[in-house]
Amino acid sequence: MYRWSRQANDPAPVEKTPMIPLSAPSMKTGSWQQQLAGAFSRVGDLLNYLDLEDHLEPGMAAADNSFSIRVTHFFASLMEKGNIHDPLLRQVLPLSAEMENIPGFSTDPLADQAAHEGHGILHKYHGRVLLITTGACAINCRYCFRRHFPYADYQMTASHWSALLEQLRKDKTVREVILSGGDPLSLANERLHTLIQHLQDIPHLRRLRIHSRLPVVLPDRLDEPLLDMLAGTRLSTSLVWHINHPREISTEFTQAVLPLRHRGIPLLNQAVLLKGVNDRVSVQTELSETLFESGILPYYLHQLDPVQGAAHFAVNDQEAAELYTLMQASLPGYLLPRLVREIPGAPSKTALTPSQNGQPGIDAGFP
Ligand SMILES: *Cc1c(COP(=O)(O)O)cnc(C)c1O
Ligand code: SF4
Repeated sequence: MYRWSRQANDPAPVEKTPMIPLSAPSMKTGSWQQQLAGAFSRVGDLLNYLDLEDHLEPGMAAADNSFSIRVTHFFASLMEKGNIHDPLLRQVLPLSAEMENIPGFSTDPLADQAAHEGHGILHKYHGRVLLITTGACAINCRYCFRRHFPYADYQMTASHWSALLEQLRKDKTVREVILSGGDPLSLANERLHTLIQHLQDIPHLRRLRIHSRLPVVLPDRLDEPLLDMLAGTRLSTSLVWHINHPREISTEFTQAVLPLRHRGIPLLNQAVLLKGVNDRVSVQTELSETLFESGILPYYLHQLDPVQGAAHFAVNDQEAAELYTLMQASLPGYLLPRLVREIPGAPSKTALTPSQNGQPGIDAGFP
């Protein structure tokens, strides 16, 4: 998953299952596929559900047209009704601000199309490759750096899969495969199973990592067969969740990841620093502490990628460094995520470290 999204015009991940009516008594009715199919896909419906219908604005429709809204009922149930500034709502609500063209914010900010080796493989860093397994997500996050990604050009057909595996077999420098997307957990268990089987048959591969946000917005996704699959592979497996705000860590999610903890699978988290969502030290501290209580260690805090339509979420480097200094002063070292940004062409994520004089001290590449 990571922070990638499906394109507005891609088919919904699951189409043949019946819709859950808006008046569904429970937020957890039906299989995870049914819950996914029943997700909110109209701004008006979501605002109605939150008693915020008065806030519907024409500008939202334009933004919604360029990147459609998608929110599971479960995730909506974690939002505070009547609060248009709710930090969970803010992550998914289309705003007219998205339609402004801001210099420096582009449709391919990470030059991924250049790093693409073909067959859905992104190879930027030594020893690990990222696989685009699908364009589908259970939620469309407005800041997503993949909101303009041409997933349609990266369709995974059977011949793509075999070419991809062939490429991995040939490159003996690759130690770790990262499943990303879209959200890899939006794939059916059978497909994931086949993929993992093929990967573990490649002798030089040692690690498997899955980046996902899906169980955060749909805890039922962590079903028995998936848990067995992740525990059963010879590859050392880890999961990196994407959680931005402590309120996203629901009781249901914490329960759902418990079997992974029991099976000894390391759980990490990456967040994106977002204005109006998690740019206060109290929120970041609470996030780290709540993650830890759920058995998850903070890994990365990403500076926003300058993707077109997301400029209103940007926190500048100075503010980010100041926030980070405060976090450092309030958290034990093991609960402090690394504050990083992705710079096209760099050999790893680049740390943004606060320096003594209060100016952001930046390892490389910053003006
Ligand atoms: C972020 C990313 C990774 C993973 O980086 P780590 O520092 O190992 O977490 C790998 N490949 C690509 C293309 C990435 O963007
Ligand atoms: S879950 Fe959200 S952030 Fe992650 S890839 Fe999908 S849209 Fe992007």
